Amino acid sequence: DPRIQYISDSIRAIPDFPHKGIMFRDVTTLLLDHKAFKDTIDIFVERYRDQKIDVIVGIEARGFIFGPPIALAIGAKFVPMRKPRKLPGPVIRQEYSLEYGTDCIEMHVGAIEKDERVVLIDDLIATGGTLGAAIKLLDQVGAEIVECGCLIELVDLKGREKLSGKPLYILVEYE
Ligand code: 5GP
Repeated sequence: DPRIQYISDSIRAIPDFPHKGIMFRDVTTLLLDHKAFKDTIDIFVERYRDQKIDVIVGIEARGFIFGPPIALAIGAKFVPMRKPRKLPGPVIRQEYSLEYGTDCIEMHVGAIEKDERVVLIDDLIATGGTLGAAIKLLDQVGAEIVECGCLIELVDLKGREKLSGKPLYILVEYE
């Protein structure tokens, strides 16, 4: 797809953020470029529009940027998965481990019903901890996970292996 190189070129790399030795992939520069942002959304829309998707789930925070325009274009609902204590209503939650300690993501009770067809959207998969937890949370409600879609995969971190065998679709990969 000739659009991919343009998208890749619009993503900025910031060394030593948020810690020394980390190369942060910054998608805010992609958002500044109308063609790059639109092509990104279009690629996901072309992929999912004829797949009877009921729900796009976006993962805080950058899944909230890319998920909603995809949901609107394909006629699906949008459901946010959030960090703990952000959602105001009753929630279900899933813990996952970090390098040091644990974290947790939450979703509103009743947002997704059993057997609804879901695509999970985030900007980037690194270790796969976040998406892996999101998959377990969706399993709790009996959703049908069609695919995880990310702009970027950091392939060396092997996050794909944490997705319980669910397919992962990505646009750009880095080491
Ligand atoms: P994981 O749980 O796969 O280790 O980390 C993925 C999560 O961390 C995603 O929600 C993603 O937004 C965030 N993240 C980790 N590294 C980066 C990065 O280099 N750039 C961006 N944009 N997000 C990152």
